Amino acid sequence: MAWFFGKKQQEPELVEPPLHFVRHGAPIPQLNPFLYVHARMIVLNALGARADVVRVTFTGQKAQVQYQIDGVYHNREVLDGQTGGGIVAIYKIFAGFDLKQRVPFQEGEFEVQHLNNRIPCRVEDQLVKGAEIISLHLDTGKPRPHKLTDMGLAEDQVEKIKQAMEEPGVVLVTAPPHLGYSTVFNAVVRVIDRYMRDVVMVQSVKDREEEVENAPPTTFDPDKEETPATVIPQLLLRYPNVVCVRKVADKETMSLLLEQPEKERLVVMGLLARDDTEAIYRALALCEEPEKLLGQLKVVVGHRVLRKLCELCKTPYPPPPQLLQQLGIPQGKIKAFFKPGPPRLPPEEIERMQKEGIPIICPQCQGIGYLGQTGLFEVLFLNDQLRQLFLKPTQDLDAVRQALRKLGHRTPLDEGILLAAKGITAIQEVSRVLKV
Ligand SMILES: [Zn+2]
Repeated sequence: MAWFFGKKQQEPELVEPPLHFVRHGAPIPQLNPFLYVHARMIVLNALGARADVVRVTFTGQKAQVQYQIDGVYHNREVLDGQTGGGIVAIYKIFAGFDLKQRVPFQEGEFEVQHLNNRIPCRVEDQLVKGAEIISLHLDTGKPRPHKLTDMGLAEDQVEKIKQAMEEPGVVLVTAPPHLGYSTVFNAVVRVIDRYMRDVVMVQSVKDREEEVENAPPTTFDPDKEETPATVIPQLLLRYPNVVCVRKVADKETMSLLLEQPEKERLVVMGLLARDDTEAIYRALALCEEPEKLLGQLKVVVGHRVLRKLCELCKTPYPPPPQLLQQLGIPQGKIKAFFKPGPPRLPPEEIERMQKEGIPIICPQCQGIGYLGQTGLFEVLFLNDQLRQLFLKPTQDLDAVRQALRKLGHRTPLDEGILLAAKGITAIQEVSRVLKV
């Protein structure tokens, strides 16, 4: 751990990192100064690496530190059991947890004071199969995309969605859990003219959601066995034009929502799923009358978050024929795919780095190969042909996806291949995200 000691003296000297933890209200007990410096260095390095989350998995014998960067966890240092346990305890003290209590899940918060910035840090602590996992969610104020176009959807598609949402009906929004779900849901709600139409939003008290302007949230509490259907009747007394429910998971809510288009209302409902096809079948499974949902369903907006290749180190390569065959792309159609490679630095800079023994890693992405994120959209406008297709009960979702492709619908894989051919991302990233 030489990196936080001064090198010149015999006795190790603590070098204070330019970062402190601040807990309001409760006093902090005396902490081991070495462990406290180490605990802060981990957060400081995470901020330097553009991480949003620091995760420490502590098994008793050791602790693995990971940083989440652009939605992906990267392994960093492994600590011995004693150091790891001490550092986890420091994070727990600042989060206000009782060290003597072992509970399956607890949540708290503190602040990270870094130079002149105060960074809110939400802490989650959970016990999973004998390991303790503590996650520090650092809210560095990174701007989140607001609009569908900011997230990578083409202007003409957004316009079509807007038109579909001007009439009464149902719009289904879907994404996998934790991966940009609320960002895409909010972006779809923002397509609605919320000055002209009265929009209500229903969500769980447990959901930490960014609020959409002019779509005030009303919450229900699942711990009291409440569902969206508990609060919707009361909201309907206000005669809203649009009813949005962030996550629909029960039949009662679905049935109540399906009554709304008949009253000239638009319904925007969210459902966690891998893609549009899965989302539609999950929604149908909640319906007493599947025809009713299919009749009212206008559009399904599916979304995945994908990392963009770093512009400074992305390198083209000819796609292997086998891969093209596997993806169902004719040979010669795509000239190049791209992947992370050596950074394109001036030769004299590389020479200098070699001379000084500095490893040649990309200064822009710090050697990760990816920088920033974009979206992979799947937008499905329902027509009678598609309604017939989804009306047939099936277990074979892949066959449905194939049928959709034959009807000219672009699947998430098609969209991903397009992004890879443009060099925005790597085909490996597309396959990671789609698990193909
Ligand atoms: Zn790079």
